Amino acid sequence: MEHIVIIGNGISGVTAARHIRKLSDKKITIVSAETDYFFSRTALMYVYMGHMKFEHTQPYEDWFWKRNRIDLKSGFIKSIETKSKTLHFAGGESLPYDKLIISTGSKPNKFGWPGQDLKGVQGLYHKQDLENLEVYAPNNKVCKRAVIVGGGLIGIELAEMLNSRNIPVTFLVRESSFWNGVLPEGESEMINRHVKNHHIDLRLGVNLKEIISDENGKAKAVVVAETGETIDCDFVGLTAGVSPNIDFIKTSNIETNRGVLVNRFLETKIEDVYAIGDCAEQRESIGQRRPIEAVWYTGRMMGETVAQTICDNKTEYKPGHWFNSAKFLDIEYQTYGWVFSKPRENEAHFHWKHDDDTKCITICYDKNTNEFLGINTFGIRMRHETFDTWLTEKREVDYVINHLSEANFDPEFYSKFEKDILTAYQNQLQTI
Ligand SMILES: Cc1cc2nc3c(=O)[nH]c(=O)nc-3n(C[C@H](O)[C@H](O)[C@H](O)COP(=O)(O)OP(=O)(O)OC[C@H]3O[C@@H](n4cnc5c(N)ncnc54)[C@H](O)[C@@H]3O)c2cc1C
Repeated sequence: MEHIVIIGNGISGVTAARHIRKLSDKKITIVSAETDYFFSRTALMYVYMGHMKFEHTQPYEDWFWKRNRIDLKSGFIKSIETKSKTLHFAGGESLPYDKLIISTGSKPNKFGWPGQDLKGVQGLYHKQDLENLEVYAPNNKVCKRAVIVGGGLIGIELAEMLNSRNIPVTFLVRESSFWNGVLPEGESEMINRHVKNHHIDLRLGVNLKEIISDENGKAKAVVVAETGETIDCDFVGLTAGVSPNIDFIKTSNIETNRGVLVNRFLETKIEDVYAIGDCAEQRESIGQRRPIEAVWYTGRMMGETVAQTICDNKTEYKPGHWFNSAKFLDIEYQTYGWVFSKPRENEAHFHWKHDDDTKCITICYDKNTNEFLGINTFGIRMRHETFDTWLTEKREVDYVINHLSEANFDPEFYSKFEKDILTAYQNQLQTI
């Protein structure tokens, strides 16, 4: 019987396994170095914040795997030998495969900062990071101040987590405004104010120079590159982005760039070796999508797609329109289609912000054709399917603005802003 081995038990690997099982009787083994059972990485923050127990992040009962004949094996794969189709574990064991799916996810970036490997210095990615947070930042007695380095979606989550335990946070952000490589100016500036309103010491336009050790090899302070300032702290969170977790693959003949290079069918150039999820890099970008997308739903889609191909229904990975969602402390953020931080040549942005400074939208459209290209919403929850349909139908921006209430989850709540948004839109039109 054909043996499918999957390295990594995250959303992409587990989805692939479940779908291969639905479609076939093949032997399936999932290998993971992190946890015995799949858990939802996106829920890690809620465990620290006391909203749920770790067990609640595991969507499947422990018996699920055995019942579905999905073998789980714990261990770290140190190398892949594709000629003999063998995986080698760090512990010395080996495991043969007929088809291999690499779904090893990401790891937090470290840029060679002095002190980056000290105790009390870590990213927020793996379950072990959650455990170490409990050691180095369980409360504000053990951790009198935390410093977070890198302002993105994981950095802001970590700030919220530490804030929930009343641990003072200094947030070092390289950019001149929060996440402004992604967010348009008005949104990014609103988030700056929101972060500061939560008593987080946000420092913009600064880099980490080094982390200083105490006599026990634990972080005791950071030095800011631009100012030379030393900030005393007990914990340093490194959240300057993530990269594919593929160092162990570099010794094999599987082609890599930043990630494991794959074609539209998620195949590498080595026969019977596939890559999916955060660690996969498309050789050619799909539309305006980035070649590596470290998001939950694309991992799930890739898992479903590769399962089809492996079960003899060769299927192209087609992720559809881009969307994403996240949270900036109390403000929910959603994006559908493309809204870049600065409008491209043929594009214009319509931006509306509520007076309370916690709600705004930005709509991007084509200046020449008026085609709606994308929307960012903050503090107003919108329906994914509606925008997906409008993007597919290539609706005009006027149509979208006039029908925004149809896309809203809570029309009553929305009706309070509808008139305001329409007026702002009409005013903007007068000036173009
Ligand atoms: C704190 C946090 C919050 C997030 N929030 C969101 C969100 O709100 N929305 C969103 O879309 N995305 C979010 N993400 C991103 C999302 O979680 C990832 O895109 C997704 O989990 C990636 O899934 P994956 O299956 O590709 O890899 P992973 O979940 O990383 O799983 C890979 C597994 O492989 C294991 N592994 C790696 N190498 C080896 C090896 N050599 N041997 C054995 N095992 C190995 C790893 O230990 C890991 O368990 C968040 C991520 C984090 C860290």
